[in-house]
Amino acid sequence: SPQLVWFRQDLRTADHPALTAAAACGPVVGLYVLDDETPGEWKLGGASRWWLHHSLAALSAELEALGSVLILRRGRASRVVPEVAKEMGAGGIHANRHYEPWWREAECEKGDFAILHEGDVLHEPDDIRSGSGKPFKIYGPFYRALHPHFPPAAPLPAPKLEKPAKLPKSDRLADWDLLPSKPDWSGGFSDWQPGTKGAHKQLDRFVVHAGDYGAKRDLPAIDATSRLSPHLHHGEVTPRQVWHALGRKGGDKFHRELAWRDFSRSMTLADPDIGSKSQRPLGLKTRHGKAADADFIAWTKGQTGYPLVDAGMRQLWQSGWMHNRARLVTSSFLVKHLLIDWWRGAQWFWDCLVDADYANNSQNWQWIAGTGFDSQPFYRIMAPLAQSEKFDAADYIRQWVPELAHLSDADIHDPWGRGVAPKGYAQPLIGHKEARERALQAFKERSTAA
Ligand code: FAD
Repeated sequence: SPQLVWFRQDLRTADHPALTAAAACGPVVGLYVLDDETPGEWKLGGASRWWLHHSLAALSAELEALGSVLILRRGRASRVVPEVAKEMGAGGIHANRHYEPWWREAECEKGDFAILHEGDVLHEPDDIRSGSGKPFKIYGPFYRALHPHFPPAAPLPAPKLEKPAKLPKSDRLADWDLLPSKPDWSGGFSDWQPGTKGAHKQLDRFVVHAGDYGAKRDLPAIDATSRLSPHLHHGEVTPRQVWHALGRKGGDKFHRELAWRDFSRSMTLADPDIGSKSQRPLGLKTRHGKAADADFIAWTKGQTGYPLVDAGMRQLWQSGWMHNRARLVTSSFLVKHLLIDWWRGAQWFWDCLVDADYANNSQNWQWIAGTGFDSQPFYRIMAPLAQSEKFDAADYIRQWVPELAHLSDADIHDPWGRGVAPKGYAQPLIGHKEARERALQAFKERSTAA
């Protein structure tokens, strides 16, 4: 009988357990549902929509080349998916497992209508439990429990497909208006190539220099990380494919980073509200009102007066991505220097990142804010000027903050402190020492109140 495959963040045909299983049962129709209802406040952000448009075009071509077709529909997935299945007389609905709470909710709303297959993880997080059967809250023990499952299963090849004679009707991709004009994306958006071809190009490129990953992954000026995050998020490549393509090249350091992705999925299963505002509020007095709002806007625009923070925020706005070191420094700056609630930053990232990922984004923001599981303690406050020097960010700053490009390596990290800030470069929103004291004071007051 004809089978329906419901694609979500798994926009590929190879190593796709649901597609492989469906193809073994009969002719296949692929379905993508643009659902802006079920995710609530976590509906797709601007950068993700841009990516999705191109990735769906690529997936549609891929399915056609294999002999099937991609149907596009809009609306609440728990209603639309069974509707399409009925229209085509599907004998089964197949989907890969996803870990976002809204997808789990959609799967169950009308009873468990879809047959779920293995998700895009190194190993199913439900299986990685402590001795007492609970999910791990600390990364170290999680990784140790995951380790015996390495290497992950070998990736599946793309199956041969047939399509049924009777096809459900489809929307036109162009009518979905997924290509917004904001964020700006003037600085490198065109470098991205959404879709599996782009993902594998990126992976091949990374395989060549992966030997440098351990030594250079923390240096924002150097292109030493995989830059696979948007491809992994949209499921254009799987962690299993990445692992097997790399062999030993990325080394333990890379495996550990990749496994953070599994850990954040495990935490999201344990705590589906991980991204919610009401989650473990800081308990300390965060700033609200006009002055805080003005600081927040300056942060989003990369006008904080701290070169590394500004470089990161401008890279995000112009290219849809930010180096991990800069993500750490910019998020810490918002939460600790500006004392602004972490979720405002998480929402901004959500809108601007091409790799915006509920589990990774929420878990990392909470890690920085000192509110999540296994978080860094709040009183550890990153010093953005020292971080900039330590991780040799001079060329990174030159690239993204051109008004500072003429400064020497010695001056560029702290142009105000060195008395060389050019006219037009933002004044620091707050001095580092003052910010540190303010944050520690707020933390102390919280501790006494608690
Ligand atoms: P690599 O260093 O090459 O790592 C390979 C892959 O491992 C990444 O693509 C990613 O899938 C995974 N990974 C690496 N580091 C982490 C991590 N700390 N947590 C979870 N997974 C990780 N990552 C996202 O994919 N989406 C997000 O929305 C996101 N938001 C973040 C917000 C903040 C505040 C911070 C500090 C980090 C965030 N990260 C997020 C994690 C990390 O910064 C990115 O995954 C990484 O920079 C992507 O670049 P890469 O693909 O070159 O990474």
